[in-house]
Amino acid sequence: MLAARYLAGYAPELIAQAERLHLEGRLADYLARRLPEPHGVRDDAALFAYVQELKARHLRNASPLQHVGYDAKLRVLQHALGTHTRRTQVQGSRLKMRREIRVASLFKQAPAALLRMIVVHELAHLRELEHNKAFYQLCQHMEPDYAQLEFDLRLYLMHLDAQRKAEAAP
Ligand SMILES: [Zn+2]
Repeated sequence: MLAARYLAGYAPELIAQAERLHLEGRLADYLARRLPEPHGVRDDAALFAYVQELKARHLRNASPLQHVGYDAKLRVLQHALGTHTRRTQVQGSRLKMRREIRVASLFKQAPAALLRMIVVHELAHLRELEHNKAFYQLCQHMEPDYAQLEFDLRLYLMHLDAQRKAEAAP
């Protein structure tokens, strides 16, 4: 069952509903209706500006980001939908945190709401490392529709997976 893989941890009824959408070939329609807007954040420079704007609005006091970019090698599900690293670098006698946000390249083509959701997720990690209650509260604060969008992202990934499989079939 495809939905079980993408929606691990969700209620069985939701998983069954998603599987039904998939089997009936209605996933694409559902996503197009839910997430109609594309975005124009095509490269790393545009992504950097986009992230800085959201950070300035919601997390002004968090440490500056040294790198923001799309990453073609990033597997979205494995990395809990994105990645955030804090690398410690020795700089003179001080230890300095290097903070980066990498967003999987598939988000270049994704609907605008999903890009925003993943950036909010990664920004929230500047404050909270774990996916705990405080983390999700911060996500919700930056994007009130966060929980629904994370669900929609899983459906979107499931849809891409199904599409790839259909194209690979003879
Ligand atoms: Zn995370």
